[in-house]
Amino acid sequence: MAGARRRLVETLRERGIRDLAVLRAFDLTPRHLFVPSGVRHHAYEDAPLPIGSGQTISQPSIHARYLELLQLKGTERVLEIGTGSGYQTVLLSHLVAQIFTIERIPALYNQARENIARAGAKNVSMLLGDGTVGWREYSPYDAILVSAGGPTIPQPLIDQLAEGGRMIVPIGGLDQQTLKLVVRRGADVQIEDVAPVRFVPLFGTYGWEQQT
Ligand code: SAM
Repeated sequence: MAGARRRLVETLRERGIRDLAVLRAFDLTPRHLFVPSGVRHHAYEDAPLPIGSGQTISQPSIHARYLELLQLKGTERVLEIGTGSGYQTVLLSHLVAQIFTIERIPALYNQARENIARAGAKNVSMLLGDGTVGWREYSPYDAILVSAGGPTIPQPLIDQLAEGGRMIVPIGGLDQQTLKLVVRRGADVQIEDVAPVRFVPLFGTYGWEQQT
């Protein structure tokens, strides 16, 4: 699959991704191991794919833009909300010092745990639960990535952002959101609109009401 992975990296370059560390992370991460066998032949296309439990793994170019926006240097402690398949978690494992990742669906959490171990990532701590309340025990975080769309920015995540920390979070309706970049500067919180996006819903205490 190394050839297919190289072609994906070329596609990302053509789509404007310039951060060499981000491109290298894509080159090192075997996306075919994170998707169900039925869609494995599409693993290196720049397309979202189903991962079970009604959830999706995002398009690689979306992951890449997310990661570029965080302006990572390699020393960060990062909180990820919505582990999903664990693919983005493993991309992050090549880019930062430590990742704390939270998933609310047990089947995905268990599958992601296997996927992350198989990929050999050692700097990942996982939690099964509601990511909208964050993971206070290990806060503050230099960066927070939210991989599901909520109605408002969860206040606990703002509170758990370090001084100068950056968070990206899709906010809006259930079908369409705006990707927000949140930067914490002392008591000040700067919020910038980045792009229209479409993510699965962020359920939880500070997200959409959970479905029964
Ligand atoms: N980035 C992931 C990957 O690489 O596979 C895909 C993430 S998927 C678009 C969004 C994930 O967020 C889903 O797995 C969903 O179950 C999860 N999610 C939604 N609300 C959540 C919450 N409150 N806490 C934790 N995870 C949540």
